[in-house]
Amino acid sequence: MTVYDVCIIGGGASGLIAAISAKRARQDINILVIEKNDRVGKKLINTGNGRCNITNADISAEHYYSSVKAFFAFFDGFDLNDTRDFFESIGVLFKEEEKGKIYPYSLQASSVLDALRYECERLAVDIRCNERVERLEKSNDSFNIMTNLSSYTSSTVIIAAGGAASDKLGGCRDGYNFLKQYGHACTPLYPCITAVKTEFNLIKALKGIKTDVILTIKVGNSKKSDFGEILFTEYGLSGPPVLQLSQMLQGNGDNAQFSIDFMPEYDFENVVLMVKNRLNSVYEDKLENLFIGMLNKRIGQTIIKSAGFQLSDSASNLNEKEIRAIVSKIKKFQLKVTGVRGFEYAQVTGGGIELNRFNCETMQSTLCKGLFACGEVLDVTGDCGGFNLQWAWTSGYKAGFSAAKSIKR
Ligand SMILES: Cc1cc2nc3c(=O)[nH]c(=O)nc-3n(C[C@H](O)[C@H](O)[C@H](O)COP(=O)(O)OP(=O)(O)OC[C@H]3O[C@@H](n4cnc5c(N)ncnc54)[C@H](O)[C@@H]3O)c2cc1C
Repeated sequence: MTVYDVCIIGGGASGLIAAISAKRARQDINILVIEKNDRVGKKLINTGNGRCNITNADISAEHYYSSVKAFFAFFDGFDLNDTRDFFESIGVLFKEEEKGKIYPYSLQASSVLDALRYECERLAVDIRCNERVERLEKSNDSFNIMTNLSSYTSSTVIIAAGGAASDKLGGCRDGYNFLKQYGHACTPLYPCITAVKTEFNLIKALKGIKTDVILTIKVGNSKKSDFGEILFTEYGLSGPPVLQLSQMLQGNGDNAQFSIDFMPEYDFENVVLMVKNRLNSVYEDKLENLFIGMLNKRIGQTIIKSAGFQLSDSASNLNEKEIRAIVSKIKKFQLKVTGVRGFEYAQVTGGGIELNRFNCETMQSTLCKGLFACGEVLDVTGDCGGFNLQWAWTSGYKAGFSAAKSIKR
């Protein structure tokens, strides 16, 4: 039986970079990656709508969430420039788009995965797919790793098993359980970067409509806004700004409300003027036609109804106060949040294994020698925009490098 130096549980983003950095750090060691899916990187290949938003030009603490205040120290030692150099070394060039989002120049997630896989192959990393690690035991100075098919021995183990989000692509709770077994605490987990459920009656007629808005979420006393395309669905709202702001909800909709600005390019008084001009021009007298050519027809009608009017009401009878009430609905359409969609629809898991029992330079557990962790299993969650993959690259690279360097031979 081969005895491995480094065994990596999980062949996703953080596990693959960990394998490469370990082998580059020490060519004389044996590395094993165990992946339960039929191939590695199943989630990675689906990132960024198949384009892989690999990182972001603005990697800063304000885009991340963790229960440990000093968590950003864990990003030291492998920053954006190191990430760019690493990917260039395996042939992947970067391309920056809006909001600092960085993609592979090919705009194909599959090319990122291919490059990682080929480098693993070149370095003779042993990859076993279709094997799920079921038990992890420590005896003296090594670990026994039991899968559904076999068992292995390794001097060090890196838990790169990801989080609970998106089970179809490999999401599960195994990584948390392995780490808990060695005394690590886990914060409450919640679905993050996910669609949001809202009260439905108000927006029933809007199902299927996509529109550019400024979306603001208010949770208790905190507020955050984002611009982009939202989609009205049978459960509430989806689309990039919704996924982005879902982070604020931490898994539940208590005391939360959306406010939608349907005409973000115009301020309130501009819209009032626009509506008044319309009332003085050629339109038929029914309110239902007031917004033709200005707003999506169904959105316009929903606004009229939510302002307390009938579609058949006469437009020419509106007074100043009523016009302003209608414009308020265009600029500040309020929708009560009732919850978020579950882990199966989420892109990442909020919360995770607490960082305070890991060394921020090496990613090694301070509770169990030889045990390392990286990626989503840990309590670091990023905004939408390449931030979660950057955490996988940084923590994975450091874990692989340090595990390799810790081998005494
Ligand atoms: C649809 C979607 C789109 C996304 N788009 C982006 C994006 O564009 N940019 C971005 O920054 N982030 C994005 N993310 C988030 C990002 O993909 C993850 O944060 C990142 O992949 C986490 O890396 P990881 O290595 O920790 O976990 P994963 O990539 O999930 O890898 C963990 C691996 O471990 C395996 N595993 C788990 N348990 C076991 C076990 N017991 N035995 C063997 N193997 C096991 C799993 O099958 C999985 O392959 C997206 C996520 C999803 C779902």
